Amino acid sequence: MHLEIPNIYEYTVEALARLTRPADPPRNEFDFDFTEEECAFALFRAKWPDGFRCPQCQHRNCYTIKTRKLPLYQCANCDAQTSLISDTVMRATRTPLSSWFRAIQLHASPAGVNALQLSKIISVTYKTAWLLAHKIRHAMSRAEAKQLLTGLVKLTTVIYCRQNWGEYTLKKWHPREQSLLIGGSQSQSGWFDRIKIKICDKHTLYPKKEMQNSSGFIMENVTADARGTITVASIQLRNRDIKLEKISDFAQRRLADLFGGIGPKHLQVYLDQFCYAWNRVGKAVIGDLLRHCAQTKTITYRELVKGRACVATSSPVTTPEAA
Ligand SMILES: [Zn+2]
Repeated sequence: MHLEIPNIYEYTVEALARLTRPADPPRNEFDFDFTEEECAFALFRAKWPDGFRCPQCQHRNCYTIKTRKLPLYQCANCDAQTSLISDTVMRATRTPLSSWFRAIQLHASPAGVNALQLSKIISVTYKTAWLLAHKIRHAMSRAEAKQLLTGLVKLTTVIYCRQNWGEYTLKKWHPREQSLLIGGSQSQSGWFDRIKIKICDKHTLYPKKEMQNSSGFIMENVTADARGTITVASIQLRNRDIKLEKISDFAQRRLADLFGGIGPKHLQVYLDQFCYAWNRVGKAVIGDLLRHCAQTKTITYRELVKGRACVATSSPVTTPEAA
């Protein structure tokens, strides 16, 4: 069967257009100032879309205890008390819900936002904005991990930040460079409906090792019924997948434009954020993102700065968002 595949230039332009235009039809349900009460109501709906459920005993009925800030909910069966923000990325926050909602809205928008911009918009310190953004990004990451590639799946290896193939090789890497695997579910039109980009071991890029060394990525990110027909391309000249490489180029430009370059420690979650947006092109993202923030347990500052695995092969690179 012959498939119409758009040429690469058009493909990249289409990718740009899809990612940067507003979802169609436009939805601006959060494009106004929420009161804390309105935010609390919306958060309740996002956290418990089917109504309250006790985290201890799963009971459906509760008493609402009004407090000075957010309401508490006491289970009618076991008396366990739970707050609206427990078990969400907002747990223990001192930032108003309305600021969180604005931050979520901005992260769902096609234009995106960086920590410096966010700090000015919601009037918080850079550190607070950076932390909020990472917590939202954490929810995106967790949501993406649950969605596997399926159907016709293609993979390729690429190199993050590789600009000079003359000076650097597969055995000599610039500190900023990372080896990546990018996989996509390809539709009949040739468009990759769903993609995943993961940092991988640099040995994955060695010639004739792609399939063998991609097995971890495949087991983790591809449904069992799609694993048998996967093709693995390589950044080497033998069997390149130019379309997936173009998506990778596009992701790298997007990260560079918005965040000014990402250090190795946090690169994976920024790649996950790109995939989260790519996998929802043309859709209203805000509802999804609010739900994911409301149903994902938080990550603490300590875990962010110390716990996250560093895959760097040399000293970390300091960039505006990498601190
Ligand atoms: Zn209970």
